[in-house]
Amino acid sequence: MSESFDVIVVGAGPAGSSCARRAAELGLSVTVLEKSTFPRFKPCGAGLTERSLRLLNGEQVSVEHLRFDTVEIGFDRYLSLVVVGRETLIATTTRAEFDALLLRAAEAAGAEVELGRAVTGLAHEGEGVRVRVGSDSMTARHVVVADGARGAGRRMLGLSPLLMGGGIYVRVFPGNDGPPELPGGRVLFDPTAAKRGYGWVFPKGDHVNIGVFSQCELSTRLKRDLDAFVTLQGFDAWRSEGPFAFPIPVGRPADALGTERVLFACDAAGLVNPVTGEGISAAILSGRLAAEVVSESIEKGQAASALYARRVQAEVVPMTDGSRKKGDIVYGLGPGFLKLVARTPILKATIAPLWRAATRDNDAFSLSVAGGSEASEPSRTPGRV
Ligand SMILES: Cc1cc2nc3c(=O)[nH]c(=O)nc-3n(C[C@H](O)[C@H](O)[C@H](O)COP(=O)(O)OP(=O)(O)OC[C@H]3O[C@@H](n4cnc5c(N)ncnc54)[C@H](O)[C@@H]3O)c2cc1C
Repeated sequence: MSESFDVIVVGAGPAGSSCARRAAELGLSVTVLEKSTFPRFKPCGAGLTERSLRLLNGEQVSVEHLRFDTVEIGFDRYLSLVVVGRETLIATTTRAEFDALLLRAAEAAGAEVELGRAVTGLAHEGEGVRVRVGSDSMTARHVVVADGARGAGRRMLGLSPLLMGGGIYVRVFPGNDGPPELPGGRVLFDPTAAKRGYGWVFPKGDHVNIGVFSQCELSTRLKRDLDAFVTLQGFDAWRSEGPFAFPIPVGRPADALGTERVLFACDAAGLVNPVTGEGISAAILSGRLAAEVVSESIEKGQAASALYARRVQAEVVPMTDGSRKKGDIVYGLGPGFLKLVARTPILKATIAPLWRAATRDNDAFSLSVAGGSEASEPSRTPGRV
């Protein structure tokens, strides 16, 4: 078989589906090759941040589980700082539901989708790219590789590997021993839960997703951090599924965005916030940009890579890398030091008023200390999340 397309998209995660949809909307012939069958599982916290929600513009509503305007930043059991947004700060979903929704939208826009088709080779050929799927092959003027943090696309083209951190989590369900009701009301982050990272607690419809992210590579140490965090948050008696672990890119080499006619998007390009591990917003945006750049390049009869690099640098990188320096400072202090500060009454007494003062002129959110008093030590029962 040898078919030809304007653009072939490798991978049907949020980057691939967003790219395919935009490409179809722009009138390009586009096919998505995805190795899994859908709905497929992708290890993820599946928290949709404000940025993702803005990009989605309400399209995710049917797959949302819970919405949160309150985020708690807990420091072990010693200090809890609270952010209350005027609007939703995070909505939770599952990736099986979310990714299937985005893929359906791409199909509805006119993209072809082939599931259960793993790309096994990529090579530049004349004015296009040849894509191999086992013994089949097809060609396209451009290829967008959105095969995720574990994808082989970079290797197929001889590109440099990405620098990887990782995340690991469990899904916990209220069992006979647990409280009858799921926690709600807020999501929680704890920067003392892991080295160069944090722990998260995301309540969902029928379970809680609780995990740890680190800029360091996945290791047994992170699994130990996860176990300690689950216990600290009081979920150890709940029925648990997992752990599920997956790499998260935290650094990009010079050739991250691809070659002349093969553009890499989101995880495959290292376009993830290296401080938070948040990637869904960058997936949607980089996928859409790749499609727009391909369309413009076809019109102008030129290769897309230079234009893609310019647009990613201007529109995606400020979003992913904007907090890298601040993150380096906080992560440089280390979890031990942060715990020490949070548990030392005199230091804790200084942080609380500074935290509240930080929002004096901010209309978007307000800041407070959990329990209303910097001296209070919040209880560690699941119901308080
Ligand atoms: C534990 C964890 C928690 C996270 N939590 C959050 C969070 O709460 N919020 C957030 O915004 N981000 C989160 N992230 C990051 C987020 O998951 C990623 O940034 C996002 O999934 C990237 O999307 P993508 O489309 O680039 O890749 P993916 O979602 O990984 O999709 C890649 C697709 O490519 C397919 N594929 C791979 N190889 C091939 C091949 N050879 N041929 C065909 N198809 C192929 C795969 O099957 C997959 O469907 C988390 C990550 C991890 C690991």
